[in-house]
Amino acid sequence: MILVSACLAGHQCRYDGSSCPDPEVLEMIKSFRALPVCPEEYGILPIPRFPSEIVGGNGENVLDGSAWVVDSRGNDVTSNYVEGAVKVLKLALSMDVQKVIFKRYSPACGCGFIYDGTFRNRLKIGDGVCSALLKRNNIIIESK
Ligand code: SF4
Repeated sequence: MILVSACLAGHQCRYDGSSCPDPEVLEMIKSFRALPVCPEEYGILPIPRFPSEIVGGNGENVLDGSAWVVDSRGNDVTSNYVEGAVKVLKLALSMDVQKVIFKRYSPACGCGFIYDGTFRNRLKIGDGVCSALLKRNNIIIESK
């Protein structure tokens, strides 16, 4: 069993209430090989919500307390992202999950590159908060 970003599995959990279904992920869900999770929903953020990005660093820095997640209105939603990441990690550890397939560029699920905190659709190097926490626990992230 692996975990996948719920929006890749067709759940309408993105900030604007949309999804981004991926055929491979949908097939894995259909054959009971994957479980969908949304770290932002686990962090008790509503749908729809304002889009969020990490400022001052990346997901690693958020976990260390030196960067923040803010929404496009300037609200600090860092604690929601950390709470969601911790819940996903607990689930992954309880299921002995070794690998996840996560949505690219997201401030929660992104891996390798994330939006740069300017809300101008630009990228910077780094992981989202949940991906950073899973990586710290030796879980492999595949990005889609
Ligand atoms: S937190 Fe992850 S699963 Fe949830 S909407 Fe964002 S990218 Fe998709």
